[in-house]
Amino acid sequence: MTVSVVVPLYNEEDNVGILHDRLRDVLDKIGTEYEIIYVDDGSSDRTLSLLEDLQKTDKNILVLSLRRNFGQTAAFAAGFDFAKGDVVITMDGDLQNDPKDIPKLLETIKDYDLVSGWRKKRKDPFLARRLPSMIANWLISKVTGVRLHDYGCSLKAYRRDVVKNLRLYGEMHRFIPAVASWYGVRVAEIETTHHPRLRGKSKYGISRTIKVLLDLITVKFLQSFSTKPIQFFGPIGIIFSIAGLGISTYLAVEKIFRGADIGGRPLLLLGVLLIIVGIQFVGMGLLGEMLVRVYHESQKKPIYTIKKILGHGR
Ligand code: UDP
Ligand code: MG
Repeated sequence: MTVSVVVPLYNEEDNVGILHDRLRDVLDKIGTEYEIIYVDDGSSDRTLSLLEDLQKTDKNILVLSLRRNFGQTAAFAAGFDFAKGDVVITMDGDLQNDPKDIPKLLETIKDYDLVSGWRKKRKDPFLARRLPSMIANWLISKVTGVRLHDYGCSLKAYRRDVVKNLRLYGEMHRFIPAVASWYGVRVAEIETTHHPRLRGKSKYGISRTIKVLLDLITVKFLQSFSTKPIQFFGPIGIIFSIAGLGISTYLAVEKIFRGADIGGRPLLLLGVLLIIVGIQFVGMGLLGEMLVRVYHESQKKPIYTIKKILGHGR
């Protein structure tokens, strides 16, 4: 079993040296072949030059330097694209995750496809970080149906084929376990150690909460309806249209048989609005259906995932 460790780094000049020493200690002891992929996410400090120096001394290091700061998700994605190991491990580069947990992750991944860390004794400020994160974890677990205590923990292990089939956008790396599990990936969670950040600054603030919420809506929508958008928009459209038609029919009867003056009635506006919006919703669903077909067929993306093929000489 070969191992790739992917570490995103953005302005972590005070951490890279210690991080590499600790990582190398742990990985050398495991005794399998390994590579460490440091992804410099457009740092403006000495991170990159320190990585370049390290790389010259250690043949197990691969350094990817992104042209600008693309964000942690993109940095992970770059690492995944270059990773060669059977198992890919991700972790933060700020020494908050502990490399000593890697053997435990490798042990657990034997029975699973994805192992996620759980920072049970998390060493971050309560109000600014732990509380929002508790709410987020509860919400994400509820909405996606994949129950984890700690979506935000970067320390994770993946089987190679899991990361190679992932397509990450925006800040979606937090949702990988949820997305992966709907493809049938077996997900486990184990407790991992967490340290306070001693050097350098955290790159995120409270504004992340709203971003996570929006990402959750996207993930939920894709999970439920990405292959059948008409099933999502259609029912809303039909209900609106029927309500609109009902109202309009009622008004028409009033006008024709009772000679009532309906021109100034608010109900008329509502009826017309519901019909138009209803038709638009159905139209949106149909457009979605076309997009889904273009997406899958132009990229030859199947709507299923295969675990194993037996027979026919394969
Ligand atoms: N990071 C990155 N690009 C970014 C922001 C962060 O590569 O745009 C890296 C950062 O250097 C660190 C990891 O992602 O190694 C986690 O970041 P941070 O410690 O700031 O997050 P927190 O632990 O506060 O959630
Ligand atoms: Mg951190």
